[in-house]
Amino acid sequence: MGEFLRRGIFAGIAAVVIFCGSAPLWAETPPGPIKIAVDARQAPQKILHSHLQFPVKPGPLTLYYPQWIPGEHMPDGPIIDLGGLKFQAGGKTIPWRRDLVDMFAFHLEIPPGATSLDADLDFLLNAPASGFSAGASATASLDVLSWNQVLLYPKGYKAHELTFVPSLRLPDGWKYGTALPGAKQNGDTIQFSPVTLNTLVDSPVLAGKYFRVIQLTPGQDPPHELDIAADSQAALEMSPDMQKAYRQLVAETGALFGSRHYRDYHFLVTLSDDVAHFGLEHHESSDDRSNERSLLDEALRMEFSGLLPHEFVHSWNGKFRRPADLSTPDYQQPMKDDLLWVYEGLTEYLGVVLTARSGLLTQEQSGIFRALCRDVRAPSRARLAAASGHRGCGSLSLRCKAGMVQLAARGRFLRRGIFALARRGRQSAPADERQQVDERFLQNISRRAGRRAGAQDLHIRRCRGDAE
Ligand SMILES: [Zn+2]
Repeated sequence: MGEFLRRGIFAGIAAVVIFCGSAPLWAETPPGPIKIAVDARQAPQKILHSHLQFPVKPGPLTLYYPQWIPGEHMPDGPIIDLGGLKFQAGGKTIPWRRDLVDMFAFHLEIPPGATSLDADLDFLLNAPASGFSAGASATASLDVLSWNQVLLYPKGYKAHELTFVPSLRLPDGWKYGTALPGAKQNGDTIQFSPVTLNTLVDSPVLAGKYFRVIQLTPGQDPPHELDIAADSQAALEMSPDMQKAYRQLVAETGALFGSRHYRDYHFLVTLSDDVAHFGLEHHESSDDRSNERSLLDEALRMEFSGLLPHEFVHSWNGKFRRPADLSTPDYQQPMKDDLLWVYEGLTEYLGVVLTARSGLLTQEQSGIFRALCRDVRAPSRARLAAASGHRGCGSLSLRCKAGMVQLAARGRFLRRGIFALARRGRQSAPADERQQVDERFLQNISRRAGRRAGAQDLHIRRCRGDAE
């Protein structure tokens, strides 16, 4: 290759690099409101239909299907269950082409004169029981709608710049709960107020045939409520003591955090043996899914007891405030989990504190839990220390990832421990063990919570170099 030619090629490459580098990543003027109408009347048959209407201009258009799902920290948008994609403009069908590299991007050419694009898609609710929001979400009697699963959005705009106008049709007689504002129901259709794309994706709707709302802070601002859907009427029975404990949970977060940052808060509780079991945090709600008899069977109730406190803490730690690398502008940018250790670890710790303080577990149950955890967590910690090599700042990221592994192991262990505890019966636990953990965990819990949070904050600031 001659020198002249080589220089020419390098100059050309440089020009392309400079051109690409200076091209704006985000468009300046967002389009007008995008309408989305979801028809969930066939949710019991495991299919959702969605119709979207985009304001458009003639020319090329790229639409995205959300890939990185907040709170799940991974690219698990369930595109494999997306089907029936059809586009129309000006009364004509518009062909589409999937990007050859990015499977979550769809390319269209909007014809001259068109100002509006209609899109239809189906979402198949045929996921296996496991997984987060992409897992099983509907039964014959209920459905959890995650809006990211039934929408597309135009490339080039940040999620908070795009406005969606959502509506939802439900099976006859189903009730619903959501943090979405401005709901007006007309027959089987609910029309919500316009919201930004990030609020829409952050605001799932829980709907079902057997549904119950329990107000936790009646007459107070902001309101808090339990919205519960189950596979049977009997499963909705929550004892007065449990209701009292959840009211106390709200009060305890007031004492712990000192402020509230949401308009209202909805615990969206799904009780079914046929949906995926997990919790997913949102700013003004949480998606909490557990066994059908979680309010009725003591062992299941104990297992369920820490779920809502944990997800509620995330509204402060993870939603209202979150690690910068997890605050991405749209749902296609990868999320980075450098500080997930704080996001998840501190939340887990405060969730345990609040579970005890609210009375969801008795002091004795909390104490025995801690004792049961101790035996498994010690070797787990040893493995972590060996994996990370040392406990200094440099290992924070590694320990963050390892922390997630530990969390999963702890979940499995807790489940085993709960059933072991139920079998053994309350009185058979060694008295000295109860006393020991009660002293270590319960009597000093407030002081330790404050100290732990302070230590973590100092550790992070040291890592950043702004503290001695
Ligand atoms: Zn969490």
